[in-house]
Amino acid sequence: MSNSTKTKFFVELIKPSHYDDDGYVIQWRRSWIPSNTLVCIYGLTQDAAEQNTLGSDVEFDINAYDEMNIVIPVADIIRRFKDGGGNGVVLFVGVQSNQFPRTMDIARKLRDEHIQVAIGGFHTSGCIAMLPQLPEELKEATEAGITLFAGEAEEGKLINLLKDAYQRKMKPLYNFLGDLPGLEGQPMPIMPTSVAKRLVSKIGCFDAGRECSFLCSFCTVINVQGRKSRYRNPDDIEKLIRSNLSNDINDFFLTDDNFARNKNGEAVFDRLIDLRENHGFKHVKFTMQIDSLAHKIKNFVSKAASAGCRRVFIGLESINPENLEAVNKRQNKITEYRKMFQTWRNASHSSILWNH
Ligand code: SF4
Repeated sequence: MSNSTKTKFFVELIKPSHYDDDGYVIQWRRSWIPSNTLVCIYGLTQDAAEQNTLGSDVEFDINAYDEMNIVIPVADIIRRFKDGGGNGVVLFVGVQSNQFPRTMDIARKLRDEHIQVAIGGFHTSGCIAMLPQLPEELKEATEAGITLFAGEAEEGKLINLLKDAYQRKMKPLYNFLGDLPGLEGQPMPIMPTSVAKRLVSKIGCFDAGRECSFLCSFCTVINVQGRKSRYRNPDDIEKLIRSNLSNDINDFFLTDDNFARNKNGEAVFDRLIDLRENHGFKHVKFTMQIDSLAHKIKNFVSKAASAGCRRVFIGLESINPENLEAVNKRQNKITEYRKMFQTWRNASHSSILWNH
């Protein structure tokens, strides 16, 4: 069948920004931090298209936007849907609480044109996981005919939603919080070129795992993604890095909320070390997020340095022990901070961490 006879199915992926105090959308000519959810959902949608999940006579048309660095072309999206037969769905991905009002403002315009819309991300998932009933803004969304998506999209969960969207039978709520997917062998995150070129520097991102084993009371991660380590395997990560390198991306943001608690973390480090030392990938480098006890894990700091880590974000939250106690962040001991900083600093001075 030629392309011209295929039915078009539009998938528009939008990572929204949020309003400032004066009501302007916060936006930059170039942004720095890539959205991991956007690249994960883009990879899953691409995979759904390649697998012909909606049938061989359906052609996917996928577009992705990060509103931090682009004006969302709402009128163009509406026109595309109308001109292309109206099949498809707009997915608002990775929507945080402060982004929800902005999301709703765009979503309402799309619903006015009868375009199917779904909202996922930590606000939807966190509210459904932690509150006894839907808060007003989520009720408003469902009343406006917007679908809510709670949980994660791997293991065919996004495909199920896309199939329902194709039939125009999307449910008001997809709740997968009780069925967290494994990540091994799942379609890998793919950075859309259109989004990559709007970042300050060429940087890729991926989550090597999802979870955190700690119990900080303010943290949504453990309520949405759980406390049991789920992780990608080193083969998948090598594949992902090689494919990014072919697009000139050698700098990565590991978006695991806490890579130090990734049960496969050491195997990932070992693979990166092997790639750097034996396969000519010395220029691969990354930034990661860890906890304040990570430096105590045997070999963690030295292997991170050898694997190409050039920057870590550490969740200190406070230097007031009472505040830390109050939010159940007992793993943070301010008396340990100096030693921790020095351990990481020594690694950065070892000429391994900065040897690029
Ligand atoms: S250490 Fe970080 S990711 Fe883990 S529970 Fe605390 S705040 Fe959440």
